[in-house]
Amino acid sequence: ATPMSIMTATGRGAQLGVLIKNAEALERFEKIDTLIVDKTGTLTEGKPRLVAVLPEDGFDEADVLRLAATLEKGSEHPLAEAIVRGAEEKSVALTEATDFEAVTGKGVKGSIAGQSVALGNAKMLHDLGIDGGSVSEVANTRRDEGETVMFVIVDGRLGGLISVADPVKESTPAALQALHELGFRIIMATGDNERTATAVAAKLGIDEIRADVLPEDKARIIRDLQAAGKKVAMAGDGVNDAPALAQADVGIAMGTGADVAIESAGITLVKGNLDGIVRARRLAQSTMNNIR
Ligand code: ADP
Ligand code: MG
Repeated sequence: ATPMSIMTATGRGAQLGVLIKNAEALERFEKIDTLIVDKTGTLTEGKPRLVAVLPEDGFDEADVLRLAATLEKGSEHPLAEAIVRGAEEKSVALTEATDFEAVTGKGVKGSIAGQSVALGNAKMLHDLGIDGGSVSEVANTRRDEGETVMFVIVDGRLGGLISVADPVKESTPAALQALHELGFRIIMATGDNERTATAVAAKLGIDEIRADVLPEDKARIIRDLQAAGKKVAMAGDGVNDAPALAQADVGIAMGTGADVAIESAGITLVKGNLDGIVRARRLAQSTMNNIR
């Protein structure tokens, strides 16, 4: 590869909001056949908002929200932000939590005024030995709308459900369609629930879904595809995505995402829109064609 044309390409990329780290990233990107995309913050806006608080018998709505938001003050997860903001908007005053603990891929725990409180997904519920059978239908109806459902557990009892919605970015559907036309196989990998993931993916024509994955699973999924001879790019925005971005043949970070994601990536999409990937591919193809 002649350095000059690569330099021209990276300069052109920068004008288009696509930051390409080095010649290697550009050369490798031309050969990618499989694109793994994170859901939250990559396909979606990553700014979930609170849409429902559903208390169980013996609990009231404001209390369930207060306990959840009080715990989430200690978390940097986008879901946490949605819950804290939701409490603010409903003028629910927060209290103080102690013994705060974030459980990766599951949720958060702590003590609030002598009560032990946990908030998280079905895995969290399962870990605490609680049967969510009575609310599974309500939860599934919400998930089928693409919402993320969390359970609030108070002193070992289910206190209620909290549901948040995170809309798909406006630019996502057209970008995915163009990527399909360019020949990419597109796989969604998300820590979110299978049902929620399926609802979001269905509208976008995603080829394959890997749901309920832990951060370390994302890197493993990529390793397995590489072992099967695939050339894999991974697009993600979160701290959790960094190992997968590093494992991929080309990591693609959202410029709107976490610094560690950007540091782990070969390509950064300044605006965090996936149409940047379409531009990067065209640029890689024309540059490599020029060089050959
Ligand atoms: P992703 O960013 O792909 O959704 P995460 O591993 O960050 O994956 O989260 C996986 C799941 O764990 C979330 O969908 C949620 O159900 C639960 N979870 C993680 N962190 C929190 C939190 N702070 N509050 C509530 N639930 C959480
Ligand atoms: Mg994300």
